[in-house]
Amino acid sequence: MTPLSSYIGRFAPSPSGPLHFGSLVAALGSYLDARAHHGQWLVRIEDIDPPREKPGAASDILRTLEAYGLHWDGDVRYQSQHLGDYQAQIDAWLASGQAYYCTCTRRQIKASGGVYLGTCRDKGLGATHAAVRLKSPVEVLAFNDRLHGTLHLDATLANEDFIIKRRDGLYAYNLAVVLDDLDQGITDIVRGADLIMPTGRHIALYAQLGEPAPRYLHLPLALNVGGQKLSKQNRAPAINNQAPLPALRAAMTFLGLQSVASEEVATTTELLNLAVNTWSLMHLPRQTEVITGF
Ligand code: GLU
Ligand code: ZN
Repeated sequence: MTPLSSYIGRFAPSPSGPLHFGSLVAALGSYLDARAHHGQWLVRIEDIDPPREKPGAASDILRTLEAYGLHWDGDVRYQSQHLGDYQAQIDAWLASGQAYYCTCTRRQIKASGGVYLGTCRDKGLGATHAAVRLKSPVEVLAFNDRLHGTLHLDATLANEDFIIKRRDGLYAYNLAVVLDDLDQGITDIVRGADLIMPTGRHIALYAQLGEPAPRYLHLPLALNVGGQKLSKQNRAPAINNQAPLPALRAAMTFLGLQSVASEEVATTTELLNLAVNTWSLMHLPRQTEVITGF
């Protein structure tokens, strides 16, 4: 594969439970793409939503990555150690009038058709019980994905003043992910197709910050036999740390690497090396969702 100039990729799990097959696919896809481009592969724990986190999940995820031979470069970054950076950016935008406080409840927004229509934009509200929204973000109607080509986004959502800090005081994923990807110099984002929609907001934030957006590759999303996204919420089973080869082979098959998945090898390292050499977007399934047995 032709090296993309100076590639830095990452896997950015939220520690809401152990790794399941869907997150293994995201980890493996981002790992293989980074290694195939002789790039770095970083791991970032997105622990900014304590009510949804499970004690021990972060270290559990890291142990699982190691058991699967998915070794990362440098130190693991924890978003919870960078809250000051998120607040500083929000404060700067509040001061310059590019962000504002909003006290609308979810129920009120639902009542007005589910889209926030800028109700609080010019009210000059204070911080009490308020979310922070970005004022008239750059409208992103489409973006280029390395697998899918041009992906079009919902125009109503593209115009929405979206939340960068929640009413409950937690920082929005959309803001934290962009500030960290910028800070870590990420050039390539490889993740599940469930994150195609928020990508428009991420690109709007890059534009707001005057920075170029990274390249994007959205992998097909693994669904369970009921057609649901595998998630901690619908209790997708944790993958086996003791015997990693079967799930690793299944994840490779899912990513179009059947020929590698069936190779007789004794270790995850051997299998991963073969996969790095074979990795190509040509093999990747084009649909955004795929049913798996998991
Ligand atoms: N932390 C997000 C998740 O677990 C993924 C972030 C990303 O890859 O952009 O769904
Ligand atoms: Zn409001």
